[in-house]
Amino acid sequence: MEKADCIVVGAGPAGAACAISLARKGFETVLLERARQPGEKNVASAVVFTPVLEQIVPEYLQEAPLERKIGDHAFVYLTGEGYGQLRMRFPEHYQQNLAFTVYRSQFDRWFAEKAVEAGAELLPDALVTDLVWDGNRVVGVKVGEEEIRANVVIGADGLHSVVGRKAGLVTDDISRYLLGVKEVLDLSPGVIEERFQLNEGEGACLECVGYPLNDICGATTLYTNRDSISLAVFGWVDLIREKSIDLNERLQMVKEQHLVRNLVGDAPVREYQAHMISDGGRVSLQNLFGNGVLLCGEAGGFVVFYVGISTGMLSGMMAAEAVDRAREKGDYSARGLGSYVSLLQESGLLDSLYDTRRFSNYLVKRGRENFPDFLQRSFDLMGEGLAGEFSFQPRAVPASREFFYNLEENIVPGFMRLPLRSMVKILDPAVRNLKRINARRKLG
Ligand SMILES: Cc1cc2nc3c(=O)[nH]c(=O)nc-3n(C[C@H](O)[C@H](O)[C@H](O)COP(=O)(O)OP(=O)(O)OC[C@H]3O[C@@H](n4cnc5c(N)ncnc54)[C@H](O)[C@@H]3O)c2cc1C
Repeated sequence: MEKADCIVVGAGPAGAACAISLARKGFETVLLERARQPGEKNVASAVVFTPVLEQIVPEYLQEAPLERKIGDHAFVYLTGEGYGQLRMRFPEHYQQNLAFTVYRSQFDRWFAEKAVEAGAELLPDALVTDLVWDGNRVVGVKVGEEEIRANVVIGADGLHSVVGRKAGLVTDDISRYLLGVKEVLDLSPGVIEERFQLNEGEGACLECVGYPLNDICGATTLYTNRDSISLAVFGWVDLIREKSIDLNERLQMVKEQHLVRNLVGDAPVREYQAHMISDGGRVSLQNLFGNGVLLCGEAGGFVVFYVGISTGMLSGMMAAEAVDRAREKGDYSARGLGSYVSLLQESGLLDSLYDTRRFSNYLVKRGRENFPDFLQRSFDLMGEGLAGEFSFQPRAVPASREFFYNLEENIVPGFMRLPLRSMVKILDPAVRNLKRINARRKLG
């Protein structure tokens, strides 16, 4: 191939969304994928939130390879054999088809096929190793010995983006990376529905913190597919390395934990994969584009609270729109592509990323040490509170006050501590008095 209008590197959700949008705008678009099939290199299954997908493929409900509709969510704190769980069911999420589990291998292939239907050319087995430059402008990519040229190159090649690195836009910040290992466990649809208390076709997501990942400030996720469960554990790469943790060992430990064991039992392993994800703290607006080059999806750091499929798709759509505006100006330099930032702002993505970045900063600077202690202490206090309520022992410090002290020590910024302490001291006797008055009233 001599020259295309646009080259999109990576046929994941971001790259395919970008290629679909570009092709529909009439750009001659080449979508390059290193794997033999899109999705082949991606971790087993995931939850896709559908509002963005629906904008791109309105008929996705009839066509996409979807597993279970998700409307049940649980946030769980795990201890060795115990747990605390907040489970929520949102009937409207089921009615609105808000989210589905999907197998990435099937979903990515289907989604990339939509780019082909829109008119893009998909080239699998095409590993991009370098960029082609004309002065300080990117004018193409190298696939092995071959050069493919274009007016714009869009890097949608995931966390380890070759395009981002070679263009000098991305540098590694390992403190913002998480490593995940995932198993897909076979379980029949009926057993899944019984164990997770679901109606036919419905699905649940469990997001767990605590045991056995406290030392790497990690999390466990459990998603229901049609006839399998995706069980994954995550931890911060720098902590895993520093403490020489074997993450697979932790995955096996979590499978022995009371709640998880009761849900997955001894379901056989169908698939196992490991993958890295950034935590959404990577986006730097100045580094999303350069002369003749743009980044979208994971490559650009578009992850909101560890969710990257719909944010990737949205950034891909915005990148295509920015290229379209650059075409109108006849200018594919960084200046011509600059509308990308305002488009991201208008789409609402930047605000979500801003919140994620603040959370990420908090975790990196402070929360990684304090958060696990805070959770464990809160859990203990709840247990002690429940037990104490019925043991009728006098307690020197009320559990509520201890709870606030724990919150204050671990979470609350310094300047808010004094007012919070005073408030708790005032509220404590007030609550006790109210309880007393109420008890007297009830006793007549
Ligand atoms: C264990 C785990 C579970 C997750 N679960 C969820 C979830 O449930 N929901 C959610 O929304 N997000 C989830 N995420 C995050 C999500 O997977 C990513 O944010 C999302 O895949 C990003 O999409 P992308 O298209 O930018 O990148 P990717 O999906 O990584 O796609 C990049 C594509 O580029 C190709 N590529 C890479 N380098 C080259 C190259 N040099 N040349 C050619 N092709 C190349 C790859 O093969 C790949 O197909 C999870 C992540 C992990 C690790």
